Amino acid sequence: MNAQLIVPAAGQGQRLGEGIPKALVQVGGEPILCLTLSRFDSLGLLDSAVIVITPGRRAAFRAALDNAFPGRDFHLVDGGDERRQSVWNGLEALGPSTEVVVIHDAARPFVSRECIRESISSAQKHGAATVAIPCVDTILQAGDSGFLESTPDRSGLWACQTPQAFQVDVVRAAHVKAAQGNWTATDDATLVHIAGGDVKLVQGARENIKITTPGDIAYVNFLIEHGERFQLNPAAAERS
Ligand code: C5P
Repeated sequence: MNAQLIVPAAGQGQRLGEGIPKALVQVGGEPILCLTLSRFDSLGLLDSAVIVITPGRRAAFRAALDNAFPGRDFHLVDGGDERRQSVWNGLEALGPSTEVVVIHDAARPFVSRECIRESISSAQKHGAATVAIPCVDTILQAGDSGFLESTPDRSGLWACQTPQAFQVDVVRAAHVKAAQGNWTATDDATLVHIAGGDVKLVQGARENIKITTPGDIAYVNFLIEHGERFQLNPAAAERS
């Protein structure tokens, strides 16, 4: 089976407020993107990886990648204004023989190899799969005026994560439908679902967080430093 990785890393990271693309912000002494990519190395998914980068920042991305992965020639493509456009640009860069594509946010450096493997095998079997975790918090639906409108039953709610994996034709067709119908979603599994496809949920882990706020950077640095104590097996420890 021929699987290829796309890493959307083109977000501006405005909520982090660092003034550089989020993927290049350092955690544990390395850019977030490089820590994330290191998770895929032993699975053989790095050699053909497509990395979707912030337009105008190619030199900075190339320098960070050359430093962390000397001699490796990643395929860099420019992202778009929305994540959906960034992923589409990545899909356009896939090799002709790719059967399954794995899409993983640059901002999630604590993904486990088990989740990656499981999402790929689920996509092979079902067409589409996303990693997700059962919601532990009660979720509130707010109305426009900021008052509680409804409280969905928590037992069926899951929080979406990445990786998401797809048979290439399935995710391409969903993106084409979304572009033609002018609708969107913040993740690709939802695009496939809206387009009429089945999506298998794969159990993820709470530590597979998406770095979003300055507090997340502090938390991730803490995990990298103390991860072994909490049996989190962080990316930094895996690489040493
Ligand atoms: O914005 P958010 O944190 O949800 O982004 C999730 C992932 O998608 C991040 O890795 C980010 O770099 C990427 N992204 C992208 N292109 C965009 C927006 C986000 O590649 N226009």
